[in-house]
Amino acid sequence: MHYYRRLFVFIFCLLAVFKTEQVVLAASPILKQSIPDKLVVLTFDDSVKSHYTVVRPLLRKYKFGATFFITEGFEFKTNKKHYMSWSEIARLYQDGFEIGNHTRSHMGLDAKHPESLKKQLAAYPEQLGAIDARCKEYGIPVPTSFAYPGNGIAAEALPLLKSLNIKFARRGGAPEYPYEKGRGVAYEPGKDHPLLLPTAGDARPDWELSDFVRAVKQAKNGRIAIIQFHGAPDLAHSWVNTPVGKFELYMKYLAENNYRVIALRDLEKYVDPNFTPRNAFDVIEERKKELAKQK
Ligand SMILES: [Zn+2]
Repeated sequence: MHYYRRLFVFIFCLLAVFKTEQVVLAASPILKQSIPDKLVVLTFDDSVKSHYTVVRPLLRKYKFGATFFITEGFEFKTNKKHYMSWSEIARLYQDGFEIGNHTRSHMGLDAKHPESLKKQLAAYPEQLGAIDARCKEYGIPVPTSFAYPGNGIAAEALPLLKSLNIKFARRGGAPEYPYEKGRGVAYEPGKDHPLLLPTAGDARPDWELSDFVRAVKQAKNGRIAIIQFHGAPDLAHSWVNTPVGKFELYMKYLAENNYRVIALRDLEKYVDPNFTPRNAFDVIEERKKELAKQK
């Protein structure tokens, strides 16, 4: 009898362990480690000169990570007063920051016009490839992070970006929120597609500290706040300008409140980018319904 009792206990324990493991795995097949509260991703778009002169020293002071999304669009090639040089971009990489792809000519995707979208998607291998080639030339690893120019998204872009070796792609605060105020939701691993990561806050000139705090405070309960900046200041794109004083205030807030500040590529330490939800747009539609109820 004694033998049978021990065998029974052994089998019971084995089943219990197996079951627990299964439950954990089933609950979060995407997670490599649990997501801490106050995890923030900083992103900076459009190769703006102040990324080098203002943002870089401040981030280094606080030891924050960040992704700089590089494009040669706008007046990048001729206006070196308002846009960084490739040597400066290479320096950002050497400092430990991530260089991401934002297409050669800042080519947005126009999902509302199928003919335009078809042409844009057809141009994407060259558009991303041109930035990849520049990175190689300057000793920067080929980007695996992407930001949609003008925050224009399309379902058809997902398999294409994957085929171009992009692991994480950031969109704007839309479609959940309208563009105007720069509001958005935090990234929910498992629900959001890694190639459609939402912006929790897209800094605007009239933002106050409270707007920034509203965005980053969403970084809790397994959610990660991805913040989008342009220049600080942005002399060429006034509608997305962040005055220097405000930017300093935002970074100080993150430091004083013990936020963990990382680049977009660093998400791979926490999540498996190969895990994708069955339908990439389901979570967006769910949120839109929820937000409509709150109105
Ligand atoms: Zn842009």
